[in-house]
Amino acid sequence: MMNRVFLACLLVLTVSGADAQTTVVRAGKLIDPETGRAVTNQMIVVEGEKITAVGANLAVPKGATVVDLSDFTILPGLVDSHTHLGLTYKDIPENNYYYLTYVMESTPLRAIQAASNGIQLLNSGFTVVRDLGNNALYTDTAHRVAVEQGWIPGPTIINSGLIIGGMGGQFWPTPEMAKQHNIVYPEYLDADTPDEIVKAVRENMLFGAKIIKICVDCKPWGYTADEMRLFIREAAKGGLKVAGHVQTPEGASRAIEAGLWSIEHGMALSEEHHKLMAQKGIYLASTDTPFTAYSGSKEAFEGIVTKLKSAWKNGVKITFSTDMDYWKTGNDMNRGELTINFLLTWKAAGIPNADILKAMTVTGYECAQIEKERGPIKPGMFADMIAVKGNPLDDIDALRDVRFVMKNGMVFKRDGVMTPEKFFHAGPVNGWRKR
Ligand SMILES: [Zn+2]
Repeated sequence: MMNRVFLACLLVLTVSGADAQTTVVRAGKLIDPETGRAVTNQMIVVEGEKITAVGANLAVPKGATVVDLSDFTILPGLVDSHTHLGLTYKDIPENNYYYLTYVMESTPLRAIQAASNGIQLLNSGFTVVRDLGNNALYTDTAHRVAVEQGWIPGPTIINSGLIIGGMGGQFWPTPEMAKQHNIVYPEYLDADTPDEIVKAVRENMLFGAKIIKICVDCKPWGYTADEMRLFIREAAKGGLKVAGHVQTPEGASRAIEAGLWSIEHGMALSEEHHKLMAQKGIYLASTDTPFTAYSGSKEAFEGIVTKLKSAWKNGVKITFSTDMDYWKTGNDMNRGELTINFLLTWKAAGIPNADILKAMTVTGYECAQIEKERGPIKPGMFADMIAVKGNPLDDIDALRDVRFVMKNGMVFKRDGVMTPEKFFHAGPVNGWRKR
């Protein structure tokens, strides 16, 4: 009996992490990215972490805080479907050679960088990310857990843990590195045989991965379609999907044949691949690098734009994705600004604003498999939303100036200024069991 009472108390304590406060947000315009339409003068009622009502002329509940955004457009938070929050390679000192980043920066340092990058992304309206590896020894799991337990603000993170590949992963390591596994090795998990594939998938699930990321063709031998089916079957036991890094046309064909959940990077895909992906409903995170003073080349950019346009025209489930993992000395853009700057590529591809917005929200939520909990601004969903001054359906660049961010019902940013104090706690207020 005593035990049961004690347990009941514990449950009450762990449920009340977020402010149980009621907030009413007045929206000048409210966008539904699914339909590409905006309605005017809406009220959004938020209780604790969830949206409880949306409509015009609702009664303001007693004691509610009213946030007046009647001069603004409200929309769901944005999704970056392929990023690396725990990696930032630089021109100085490593000459953009990310092997060196792995040697020079420890897992703890990279975890702190990830926490900072997550805050910078929230500041730019990204409330969800798929964080797909190259995050040292599971900084991505630690980051996700820290956000979920309530220590720090950050986006909802769907993380991959270590990238699984044939021996060496994306590297061509020296025998000293590969056999001792002491240097740069946390970045990849070797799996060359069926037994190793099963073991690697289980190891990642044990250490907190929410999606399995594999190197399809980082080596000339790569994975066969059958080996990828084994990954898919094993990951499914833990409810996880498989995302594949693809860099060759042959690898793309095998990945599509195997039916991976998502294909990462679009550079090796032909129009034929796009058609097959659309048929099979495979998500694309094409990581469409813009041509800027700090990134890309004109030639590469033209290729990326052509491929993104083809994917869109052929009806592929395209997500907004960046592979954002670098920084250049002297460039004062923060990680959020660098991420939203990928709009340059989408605009150059001539994709309509409503479809860009869909890739950044609806399709991103589905690809992250959280569309039943987060995304639409509707009763029952987590209260994640952002506000901008203009209307992104008319001018997508309106998304570059996010004035207000709410995550899990808590205001992270208002009047264009970060106000994250409600997110910081001295303990795991949402429960230490989250892992
Ligand atoms: Zn990547």
